[in-house]
Amino acid sequence: MTVKTRFAPSPTGMLHIGGARTALFSWLYARHFGGEFVLRIEDTDKERSTDEATQVILDGMKWLGLDWDGEPIYQGARQDQHIAAVNKLLDEGKAYKCYCSKDKLDNMREKQRIEGKKAMYDGTCRNLSEQDAPKDAPFVVRFKSPEQGETWVKDLVLGHVCFPNEEIDDLIIKRTDGTPTYNLAVVVDDADMSITHVVRGSDHLNNTPRQIQLYQALGLDVPEFAHIPLIHGADGAKMSKRHGSVAITEYREKGYLPHAMNNYLARLGWSHGDDEVFSREDLIQHFDLAHIGKSPSRFDQDKLDWLNAHWMKASKPADMVDEVARFLDMDTSNGPNLVDVIPALQERSKNLLEMAGGARLFYVAPSEYQEKAVKKNFKEGTWALLNAFIAKAESEDWSGEAAHQWIADICEAEGVNMGKLAQPIRILIAGVPVSPPIDITLELLGKEETLSRIQAGAAILQG
Ligand code: GLU
Repeated sequence: MTVKTRFAPSPTGMLHIGGARTALFSWLYARHFGGEFVLRIEDTDKERSTDEATQVILDGMKWLGLDWDGEPIYQGARQDQHIAAVNKLLDEGKAYKCYCSKDKLDNMREKQRIEGKKAMYDGTCRNLSEQDAPKDAPFVVRFKSPEQGETWVKDLVLGHVCFPNEEIDDLIIKRTDGTPTYNLAVVVDDADMSITHVVRGSDHLNNTPRQIQLYQALGLDVPEFAHIPLIHGADGAKMSKRHGSVAITEYREKGYLPHAMNNYLARLGWSHGDDEVFSREDLIQHFDLAHIGKSPSRFDQDKLDWLNAHWMKASKPADMVDEVARFLDMDTSNGPNLVDVIPALQERSKNLLEMAGGARLFYVAPSEYQEKAVKKNFKEGTWALLNAFIAKAESEDWSGEAAHQWIADICEAEGVNMGKLAQPIRILIAGVPVSPPIDITLELLGKEETLSRIQAGAAILQG
């Protein structure tokens, strides 16, 4: 049997941390077994679904590298199949038309509330004969749930969960307006797509016995289920905006690496011994459902940042170059190759946004010089040191290493520490006293650009 999983988001809200983790787990499970992973956009709620939310799903998954097989499937386009299943259940007497009005249902619930009973449909129309059925009255179609016995969800994460059938009322599978409902559509789609493992949030657990009953009534194979406990904020409360639950694409804009995000999300609920750091290949190799915890996980911003910093250092420059270029958003053809600049910044950047900030100096000369730094680093003897440096550069072969040595020699001869010359050089080339190590910076910037910036800065600062 080929493992086939799916991610089935409703584009009614933004894809956030929780949804992205569900997508990742589902994707990892399929990839671990060399199986298939499909993306099904559940856009049946036309009023609440938005194009913007759909776009965040597509962009977010592409950013995380959660590639799906085939084209995305839009559930709204499959209504014919859903209605065919409703009609089959009606024809076989496994579903019925229910004419109960809203008022009637409200009264039913109110009565149940007063009697301290669970609110559920009481089956009024379940055994209504053709003759007794009102003519031309609006109706919904309800599924005839078994009245006795139990429905077991043999969940691969939560274990076996029993639902007494008497607590499951007759579910609406088609609304008055003729549209199918979620539980029916999901079952028809998962079966048509031969989904073998339904991996989703544990907020769906209560739907699962209803779905199992529908599979059975439709004569379809029941897939395996894996419900993942939800994510809570650091304070233990349900994850919300306040806890950083924003659209997943916002993490991209904040400069997080997609792989750091995947590594973090994978560990949010799943474990493999005490390991914290996993490459993409490691995740695919080790991921399993057996090691997903049964209780909610807590979102930990510090850990995400720590993993991001780790992957900023450990990633290949070539894998970061596109995003850094996107953040830099400038012509880099007049400077060193960005891919050669990145290694100089990997140790010192917490995220890609910072890295782009650090790369900027290699492509634009400063237009101003930080006043505080100038005051602190430009003293009486500074210009003599700089002139000695320029003289060396003009008479000897240039390299970052050589330039570093000249700075050391000049400062030693004057009996001052290296910072007395290195910092003024930094300020003149970058506008601020910060840059990667001076030898690497000067190597990347090159002789011509370095000298031209020093001279331009000198002209301005010396007035
Ligand atoms: N469309 C549902 C949701 O976004 C998920 C359905 C499922 O995974 O079965 O919550």
